[in-house]
Amino acid sequence: MGAVEKQRTQLPARDGWEYAPAPESREIVSFKDRYGLFIGGKEVTPRSRSWFTSVSPSTEEPLAEVAQAGAKDVALAVDAARGAFADWSSWKPSERAKVLFRIARVLQERSRELAVAESLDGGKPIKESRDVDLPLAAAHFFYYAGWADKLEYAFPNRRPRPLGVAAQIVPWNFPLLMLAWKIAPALACGNTVVLKPAETTPLTAMLFADVCRQAEVPPGVVNIVTGDGSTGAHLVRNHGIDKVAFTGSTEVGKAIQRELAGRGIPLTLELGGKAANIVFEDSALDQAVEGIVNGIYFNQGHVCCAGSRLLVQESIHDQLVRKLKRRMATLRVGDPLDKNTDVGAINSKAQLERIEELVASGTEEGAEIYQPPCRLPEKGWWFVPTVFTNVAQSHRIAREEIFGPVLSVLTFRTPDEAVEKANNTMYGLSAGVWTEKGSRILWMADRLRAGVVWGNTFNRFDPSSPFGGYKESGFGREGGRHGLEAYLRFE
Ligand code: NDP
Repeated sequence: MGAVEKQRTQLPARDGWEYAPAPESREIVSFKDRYGLFIGGKEVTPRSRSWFTSVSPSTEEPLAEVAQAGAKDVALAVDAARGAFADWSSWKPSERAKVLFRIARVLQERSRELAVAESLDGGKPIKESRDVDLPLAAAHFFYYAGWADKLEYAFPNRRPRPLGVAAQIVPWNFPLLMLAWKIAPALACGNTVVLKPAETTPLTAMLFADVCRQAEVPPGVVNIVTGDGSTGAHLVRNHGIDKVAFTGSTEVGKAIQRELAGRGIPLTLELGGKAANIVFEDSALDQAVEGIVNGIYFNQGHVCCAGSRLLVQESIHDQLVRKLKRRMATLRVGDPLDKNTDVGAINSKAQLERIEELVASGTEEGAEIYQPPCRLPEKGWWFVPTVFTNVAQSHRIAREEIFGPVLSVLTFRTPDEAVEKANNTMYGLSAGVWTEKGSRILWMADRLRAGVVWGNTFNRFDPSSPFGGYKESGFGREGGRHGLEAYLRFE
């Protein structure tokens, strides 16, 4: 027996492993006590004279006060964006590109600070904010900086022109990354923007305002109005806007669509999902288990394209579920700032209640629940990674977006049945296929009504790859060359 093998046999059993705490220092972030609105390149006091507190979901500790923008504040922000548009859109595209490159560089330079801020304000594990959110946010600015002076080549024989003022509303699951998805292509195309971050995660957007100042973004090109849903509604209702881009729930997406009807304003909607992650019997099972775990427990399942419906070929159901449960027992739930943490805090009390309600419906409707033994912190909002087996397609947990760390397992026998079940949803954002046959992945991808289909992987993102939905998951694409089109008109 070789030395390494000998050592391996002497290692303690899995349950014997204890991880020492490995906390990331939070000293690198210093939030101000109170933030105003970012309008015309300056932080301004809201006319509404009203503020709310942003709290950390993992400790319930107040982090900072943030302005609640009213209709007048929103109007000022739109005016500032309109005022800056004529100049910004006439800049030499290569000069605009430099501004985007500078933003990307500053995001990289301040990535540790921003990652810690994101984990504090939103509850996501530091290893995700540090290794996924921040690098991808910077990559989006780099990517679209590259397009800024090549729009004529992106759309040959058409004359691309910016739209004007883009109103952009983002959710709480990837605050900085969604901001980057929205702002980078808009600026690259010569638009100015007014962005509304989510109520529970406004702080990295306020730090981004500082990034803009550092990167010398001209005043008025980027404006940020914080507040609750009413601030978003004021923004959509404002008649000075030329474009709306929204990511969030299908319900609010529909309300925005109704509001814009007849106004001739281009709209992109990136809404919910109930993605099928489909595992065939010939797939590499251990690799598939990692993909399933990443698909649903990444970011506490607060992911619109999460693989929340696991479709398993019947012949391997028991084996796969056994492996999955064993893997789930190793997930570390807790302090988002601990570098060992896999699953952080649920973003808000309201979201926790929504998850609890749907999980209760799963048990009531007859599905079988499994949750690994897990000690949760006493303060804050937490939910144990959960899997349901014996799930029927009619169950609410198989139909509704839970937006939490909850997986529903269903089975199929043939590829045709897998396709039918995968498509049996009102959503159509993403899907995953696990098989050793490349031809089967292509066959499935052709038939799945989903904007993104991953083959032998899940939750992979790249700025050059378009992302968006079918059916009630929305319309329009973000990312890639397609993502530019949403911010252009053609002469
Ligand atoms: P919302 O759709 O309410 O929030 C998304 C954004 O829209 C937030 O900035 C929100 O502001 C804003 N908003 C809310 N109401 C309006 C309005 N009438 N007009 C304009 N903007 C508005 O999502 P929730 O936070 O309420 O989450 C509810 C459910 O939505 C989740 O359980 C999940 O299923 C789904 N969801 C899906 C997301 C996705 O990426 N597809 C992202 C987030 C949620 P504020 O935060 O201040 O309310």
